[in-house]
Amino acid sequence: MSFCCVQSQAQSTKLWNNKQCAVVLTYDDAIDIDLDNVVPALDSVKLKGTFYLIGSSPVIEKRMPEWRLAAKNGHELGNHALYHPCDGSLPGRSFVGPDNDLSKYTVSRAVSEIRLNNTLLKAIDGKTERTFAYPCGDLKIGDVYFYDQLKKDFAGARGVSPGLQLASDVKLDNIRCYMINGQSAEYMINLVKEAQKSHTLLVFLFHGVGGGHSLNVDLQAHSKLLHYLKTNQKNIWVAPMVDVAKFVATQQAGKPSLPKSIMKN
Ligand SMILES: [Zn+2]
Repeated sequence: MSFCCVQSQAQSTKLWNNKQCAVVLTYDDAIDIDLDNVVPALDSVKLKGTFYLIGSSPVIEKRMPEWRLAAKNGHELGNHALYHPCDGSLPGRSFVGPDNDLSKYTVSRAVSEIRLNNTLLKAIDGKTERTFAYPCGDLKIGDVYFYDQLKKDFAGARGVSPGLQLASDVKLDNIRCYMINGQSAEYMINLVKEAQKSHTLLVFLFHGVGGGHSLNVDLQAHSKLLHYLKTNQKNIWVAPMVDVAKFVATQQAGKPSLPKSIMKN
């Protein structure tokens, strides 16, 4: 193999902040278990995650100093809307009540409630940049993609469709992720290994961790995943979604990603 090809291969394997791949750990719905189980687990291995908070969750009001401390320690408080409205007109949505039925919302109401949730989150963490996660993964009100009006308010938005993506292929208004509900540590670690091999972005979506939600992951399985990520930190970039979304935006804008020694030439 010639020098040129060895070098270009070395570059291609360091596409994500000089690492093989990026992994984002996201936790939805502002539940007690986030503060009881997840933050301590992440802090014990010094990894940072993203918590998508529903502004109206009683856990925000009750435990505000703990959310503030989590943000101060580098975790992202993401926006999961003020009331978590979901499209009640879709099949299997009998859980959606009339007060939080997205299909009954006007677009401007959805947009203003999400902006109000940003104001609340800024009052908690003092930050002006964060990401959004679509409640129930619902992108539209009628035919309108409501996030189109919110693009300037966020670094990106996480959806619920699965997939590993190269930085060039990530859609920042609907970032793919793998929703975990009962899968094993082996399944999750294999996804990470797949991302390492393909040099892609892997986003995990968790709800309960060791309980706390009907969608759940075993506490030990979650811990094994964190330890795999920690052990392989040299090759895996684990960061909050806001950091990864900003990195993707820079890459897609065509900014040079070559090592500094080469850029100088
Ligand atoms: Zn949710």
